[in-house]
Amino acid sequence: MPRSYVREARKRVGPKRARIQPIIDRLLREHADAAIALRFGTDLELLVSVMLSAQTTDVNVNRVTERLFEKYRRPEDYLAVPAEELERDIFATGFYRQKTKAIRGTMAMLIEDYDGRVPRRMEDLLRLPGVARKTANVVAAELGEPQGIVVDTHVRRLSQRLGLTKVEDPVKIERDLQRLVPREHWGVFPHLLIWHGRRVCDARAPKCERCVVNDLCPSSRA
Ligand code: SF4
Repeated sequence: MPRSYVREARKRVGPKRARIQPIIDRLLREHADAAIALRFGTDLELLVSVMLSAQTTDVNVNRVTERLFEKYRRPEDYLAVPAEELERDIFATGFYRQKTKAIRGTMAMLIEDYDGRVPRRMEDLLRLPGVARKTANVVAAELGEPQGIVVDTHVRRLSQRLGLTKVEDPVKIERDLQRLVPREHWGVFPHLLIWHGRRVCDARAPKCERCVVNDLCPSSRA
């Protein structure tokens, strides 16, 4: 896209600080059902689901965890079987060796350092083996204590299209969004962008003509 056109489009929609609240309000109305698609009943199941969701779909994870969570209820249960058995049980989520190692390491640390409970603070979550920033952010947000903003492929694409960030690096995108999005929306904001990305702002063919924020979006083709 030529630079002058981008500049024009940015001028047309106005500064991002003025657009962010109406964008959130409209997306909240449009995607009132926006929530995490993983199914879990306890904090531990949430943590395991998010760890399993790397490089696969939430639907796939839900299919696997339906049985998994009947068999493994406490951190100790994941360590009570040979690693190969857990590998088989989570095989269908892919990268099953790495994930088994991460889950078992995490369970050991939960038992050792956290009384078998899932911690809520980012610095504690980030200590768990195999738990990177995105996983920690999702878990903290779902536990009702968001301390950052989850940036996945949808959040990155939509933040860029909506002119909320100009950078590519997820950590820097998160920093831009944290400066912009009011803190009370940190938990729901990624869900809004993810659902909007899935339903309307498709990677290849965004449906700008029926997008509720098209007058606030510098990338609108409507
Ligand atoms: S106007 Fe188009 S590019 Fe912008 S958010 Fe909506 S669908 Fe995506």
